[in-house]
Amino acid sequence: MAISAIGGFQRAHRAYTGPGGPPPLVNWLDTGEEAVSILREYLRIDTTNPPGGEEAGCIHLRDILAREGIDSELHDAGNGRVSISARLAANDGASASAKPIVLLSHVDVVPVEPEHWRCDPFSGDLEDGVIWGRGSLDMKGMGVMELITLILAKRHGVRLRRDLVFLAVADEEEGGHHGIHHIARTAPGLFDASFVLNEGAYGFSEFMGRQTKIFGLGPSEKSPCWLRLRISGAPGHGSVPHSKNALAKLVVALARIDAAEHRVHVTPPVEAMLRTLASKGFVPEELDPTDEATVQMLGSVDAHLHALTHDTVSLTSIRSGGKLNVIPASAEATLDCRILPDTDSDAFVAHLNEIADQPELEIERVLSHDSGGSSMDTPVVAAVNAVVAERYGEEAFVMPVLSPGFTDSHAYRHAGAEAYGFIPVLLTREELSTIHGHNERISIDNLQLGCEILFEVVRRLAAQG
Ligand SMILES: [Zn+2]
Repeated sequence: MAISAIGGFQRAHRAYTGPGGPPPLVNWLDTGEEAVSILREYLRIDTTNPPGGEEAGCIHLRDILAREGIDSELHDAGNGRVSISARLAANDGASASAKPIVLLSHVDVVPVEPEHWRCDPFSGDLEDGVIWGRGSLDMKGMGVMELITLILAKRHGVRLRRDLVFLAVADEEEGGHHGIHHIARTAPGLFDASFVLNEGAYGFSEFMGRQTKIFGLGPSEKSPCWLRLRISGAPGHGSVPHSKNALAKLVVALARIDAAEHRVHVTPPVEAMLRTLASKGFVPEELDPTDEATVQMLGSVDAHLHALTHDTVSLTSIRSGGKLNVIPASAEATLDCRILPDTDSDAFVAHLNEIADQPELEIERVLSHDSGGSSMDTPVVAAVNAVVAERYGEEAFVMPVLSPGFTDSHAYRHAGAEAYGFIPVLLTREELSTIHGHNERISIDNLQLGCEILFEVVRRLAAQG
């Protein structure tokens, strides 16, 4: 157990003020141990998607909630694809305008390549203050922080002027058909919310080669526009080439699409991110985030920043033919396109079609949604900033981020809620690289830190009508 972190909690505990009065006397040492044990057991439940099998994970969460006297509901989409919700009702003069806060997470995890792991990815091993396992960061760890927040609110009778909803869903990693979209169809009441906290932004303990403490807060994310391209031609004998070779045409189309340059575009969250970094000395203070040439130059040396300032296309598969001496009659390929939150997907697809310049090309959308965006001027943003400032003073800061990946938050943004990525842990570059990779893990310090900060942010939000 990390004594230094616990000392930090006690100091921080005394420091917190803000709406809702002084915080309850939480024993963060015990709470941390509780979170560790809940997470280890959660990680031992294999919810790899596909096939998912989230039911066992949800039952684990349901049993813990039941022990605390909190009712929950399972949402069964069939074949073991289960999500779980629980609600703490407002207990202090809720008004109709004060809609719930939703703590959102997903139960499923991405597949593993166990041969590259130092331990069994589903062991929940605890060693040297670190908990190992697929999902520890993405995102069972955050799910446990949210669960602990709900439990502490119940145990300590925290003043709630709005309902507090816990929602852990299936199938996020494969697009949410059996998870968030199933909930939208069968339990739309869960979408009646003001604020949502979810994945979509981590924090950094090092950034651009410097030790630091940066808490990421994500008001938006790039939108997926996954495409399947198909061309039909004419079959033939390989010994007699002709001009209707589908594979040849597709390859030309793909080469044109891959070579195309997309415009640089700085969206408001990225502008806010760059301004924050400039004010903290991570990029030159004179940097003008609205100057596209400068941003283009920065993006050319940093693939991550390039992705955040452009619509992007990755060619991911091609399928055609089967025999060396037969000209195939058709060919298809898939493209993983990620577009900026304010790019129109119809216009983007039309633009790709124009670039490909092949009249026979058909483009099918496999997955496409608009991620939407939330305001950076809301009580959520104020609470996160205040809690980080009160806990750390000048030692840490909050940075707006745009996530290059997408999350289930888009479903809530479409329903009118302000949804944010906010996983309050401070990760090294190496730890960040384990998400969807090998040896995913979370330190006990980070798990405890996340529980404490999330609880304090939610407590303040809940106290405001
Ligand atoms: Zn995730």
